[in-house]
Amino acid sequence: MKTKKDIESEINQLLEIMKKDKVRVTPQRRAILKIILTKVKHPSVEEIYQQVQQEYPQMSLATVYNNVRAFVSAGIIQELNIDEKTKHYDINVQPHGHTICESCGKIEDVFMNQFNDLYSEIQELDKFNVKSMEVSFYGLCQECCEKIENN
Ligand SMILES: [Zn+2]
Ligand SMILES: [Zn+2]
Repeated sequence: MKTKKDIESEINQLLEIMKKDKVRVTPQRRAILKIILTKVKHPSVEEIYQQVQQEYPQMSLATVYNNVRAFVSAGIIQELNIDEKTKHYDINVQPHGHTICESCGKIEDVFMNQFNDLYSEIQELDKFNVKSMEVSFYGLCQECCEKIENN
């Protein structure tokens, strides 16, 4: 488990990246980043907004959205288009895939060496500068499978 101190230093490191881009680091921005890091896995803007309300009740959904966009353009979070209705955001920008449960909607990370290979191969093959990559597997998570079996 990450300690409070680990999380703080991780946030500071990420905000340093933004500072280099001359992006102002505000307490609100820090709060949003902390939620993405700790609260919900692969949150949507709405989920981040709900969480941030507890600390900053005045913050609007538009502000949350603009901050999230700023994080994406700074390359410190990744935008996921796995859900056609809602975009989700991922603090892990390393090449990895996702499993998406079509029953409960759970999005989990999948780490395989092949993703790293894919990533570097496309860069070499086409001299293409890859900014992001999405590999999604759709199906049923273990819990949902068990629920079906037990019925
Ligand atoms: Zn499920
Ligand atoms: Zn992920």
